[in-house]
Amino acid sequence: MIHEIHTSSPEETQAWAAQLGALLFPGAVIGLEGDLGAGKTCFVKGLATGLGLNEDEISSPTFTLIAEHYRGRLPLYHIDLYRLEGAKLEEVGEIGIEEYLAGQGVAAIEWFSFFPDSVVNNYLLVTLAFVNENERVLKLTPHGEQYEQIVKILLGVESKRRVT
Ligand code: ADP
Ligand code: MG
Repeated sequence: MIHEIHTSSPEETQAWAAQLGALLFPGAVIGLEGDLGAGKTCFVKGLATGLGLNEDEISSPTFTLIAEHYRGRLPLYHIDLYRLEGAKLEEVGEIGIEEYLAGQGVAAIEWFSFFPDSVVNNYLLVTLAFVNENERVLKLTPHGEQYEQIVKILLGVESKRRVT
């Protein structure tokens, strides 16, 4: 099932991502999709906060393919595949990204679709789309039972939070 969240500011996107970050487990994979400026890195900043990291640690890694952050509850591997467009499975293998996915940390992967198919089977796909300057729609598509559960908890927690 696909779930949609509407946000009206970067802070709101980060707040959702932070709640998600608090629910993640070792080896979790979050795939991020959306045009340039949609808010993928913004979302990773929120994830970082939810893992107990400082959001300022997260930057848009133009030249860095992988940035590792170890100060939180779990390691965060922030991966940006933008430069891998059109790369083949062997090339991705050479970079060793797959090792991060089976690791003890959380992998947050921007431009997830540049990953060759079948490298990852279980993950949460987050697709961000523009509505206008400050509004975005976040589409959450869980792949695998663990992620189904997490999305249910996330949306349940948020609606309770809104009521109080
Ligand atoms: P991407 O990594 O997808 O290229 P960034 O996260 O680097 O995008 O940039 C998103 C930009 O959009 C930031 O400047 C952010 O402040 C702005 N923005 C405005 N509204 C939102 C929103 N609701 N959610 C996320 N980002 C937003
Ligand atoms: Mg980015």
